[in-house]
Amino acid sequence: MQSIKPFVPQAPRPCIFEQVYFSRPDSIVDDLSVYEVRKRIGAELARESGVDADMVVPVPDSGTPAAIGYAQASGLPFELGIIRSHYVGRTFIQPGDQIRHLGVKLKHNANRAQIAGKRLVLIDDSIVRGTTSVKIVQMLRDAGAGEVHMRIASPPTRNPCFYGVDTPERSKLLAAQMDVEAMRAFIKADSLAFLSIDGLYRAAGASVGRIVDRPAYCDACFTGDYPTPLTDREGRGDASLLPDFVS
Ligand code: SF4
Repeated sequence: MQSIKPFVPQAPRPCIFEQVYFSRPDSIVDDLSVYEVRKRIGAELARESGVDADMVVPVPDSGTPAAIGYAQASGLPFELGIIRSHYVGRTFIQPGDQIRHLGVKLKHNANRAQIAGKRLVLIDDSIVRGTTSVKIVQMLRDAGAGEVHMRIASPPTRNPCFYGVDTPERSKLLAAQMDVEAMRAFIKADSLAFLSIDGLYRAAGASVGRIVDRPAYCDACFTGDYPTPLTDREGRGDASLLPDFVS
């Protein structure tokens, strides 16, 4: 029996955010060790936007492999300047909404003995709304950090995902509203830098970086280059949601 293939064959474009955040670090995704990719992301960050500092501190747990990679590439010590409570998030010890709303204050605690008076490179996987970053930078300053240089293990998230990931609408994405310097001022960091899209592709094994007319991944939340036309959005004339990659 002859099979019918109504669609033109397309090269797959799997989600690159799997490598940055979604997948467990002990996963193998697209034949790549996610842990190794994240360490290479940290090394790329150190090369692209290295800064004088005393130590590299991850935002646990998602920033940890990239922070290890940054520390190894830069020669700076890796320290747990933020400790994540292993008890918060367990429903059996949450008495109610009030304690849940304490959020990051309980979930993350500054390791004052390590960071007081020190210049920190703070590594996180991404900035979405920016509210968590504001709280973490403030928490580190309250604990006596001398400088906080934030480095992000992905490019700015400027576009929503329409493929199943629950990202907020564009108007709530900090990077869609501000340039990097305005974001730095908003989160009150001493400096802020994001990984480049080419650096991300290099970390994911593409020696030449992102090939513009043949990207190996979906990276639309960073580039606006959606693998499929956004026909419903375009039909409604919602210009704020159209790809901005080519502009
Ligand atoms: S837009 Fe693409 S890269 Fe971004 S989260 Fe969605 S599927 Fe992943």
